[in-house]
Amino acid sequence: MNILVINSGSSSIKYKLFSFPKESLIDKGEIEKIGETKSKIKNHTQGIDEIINKILTKSSLNSLEDIDAVGHRVVHGGEKFKQPHLINKTVIKQIQKCSELAPLHNPANLAGIKHCLKSFPTNFQVAVFDTAFHQTIPRSGYIYPIPYKYYKKYKVRKYGFHGTSHQFIAQKAAVILKKPLDRLKLITAHLGNGCSITAIDKGRSVATSMGFTPLEGLMMGTRCGDIDVAAIFNIMRKEGLTIDQTDKILNKKSGFLGVSGISNDLRSVVKAAKGGSQRARLAIDIFINRLKKYIGAYLFYLGRADAVCFTGGIGENNPDMVKSIERKIKNIFPKTKVLIIPTDEELMIAKLTYQLFIKNKRGK
Ligand code: ADP
Repeated sequence: MNILVINSGSSSIKYKLFSFPKESLIDKGEIEKIGETKSKIKNHTQGIDEIINKILTKSSLNSLEDIDAVGHRVVHGGEKFKQPHLINKTVIKQIQKCSELAPLHNPANLAGIKHCLKSFPTNFQVAVFDTAFHQTIPRSGYIYPIPYKYYKKYKVRKYGFHGTSHQFIAQKAAVILKKPLDRLKLITAHLGNGCSITAIDKGRSVATSMGFTPLEGLMMGTRCGDIDVAAIFNIMRKEGLTIDQTDKILNKKSGFLGVSGISNDLRSVVKAAKGGSQRARLAIDIFINRLKKYIGAYLFYLGRADAVCFTGGIGENNPDMVKSIERKIKNIFPKTKVLIIPTDEELMIAKLTYQLFIKNKRGK
């Protein structure tokens, strides 16, 4: 069977088309700059139409009837979605409700979903949530130590993100280590523009670094990660900043970009550090310092780990950085393996869609 995966972001739509059960990739592509003034693609509806056009002209498929299922990435599933769901009217309403938790992402995901439901003959369309994998984190790990009423009233709590990537890496690690996932303790570090790290016990997420939003945790390309909130109040008062201005500084102007003053892209920061930039060197050192802190905490939390796995643009392409962390880990936990595993979130979405498809077929 053929499964199309749609990853509909705020200004881009990525797609991958797979054949199952072989899991082979038939086609992939991306529509970028949706809605930008010079772009001919004005909105997500036109973006999906363009993808359909590409699939029918570029791939070996003859008609849309050849697509048996569509898997959609949805960023926020709140507390409602603990696993992938077949999309129907109720699910759409619930995703809409979660938009207040992810105002930039969920509406873009929904725009893609709605147009795909109209455009594809198959009604087997599945929502796969970035947050779902972390719904197994215990209460003590997701409730923030602020007045409890804010959790009750506004659902302010840790959710965690990059769930499909952490889940994919855990499954791959089990194959590499030749052990069943339910006998493994793993730490997975997804280090891209956004960075998050997860402790996984027997295949279940038990702790993760991102929080209510993707701002918490590790230092990232443009996000600060963990910080004393009172330091921010201090800056806001001194500079007379509004909430929106402060939000932009912490999400878009901090991290590698903020400290180095050069770029959000680690490649440029490394180049500058080699060229003698002290602030570029400092940015890299802060990143590694914080990464080590989380790995140490999660090793203690799990008691031990069979492997610490690195993925994402940074995790997959900086073997020297990984090697230096590996030496540190091996000093204390000599049996812990350090693995670099390329992630494939779209393949994980396709696998989860396939599993639900098979389950539904059996149920009939
Ligand atoms: P996203 O989170 O947007 O998917 P990526 O996973 O592609 O991002 O990661 C982007 C980060 O990976 C950037 O900081 C970039 O510098 C880093 N990166 C990508 N390729 C390389 C490479 N070949 N060498 C070093 N760093 C790289």
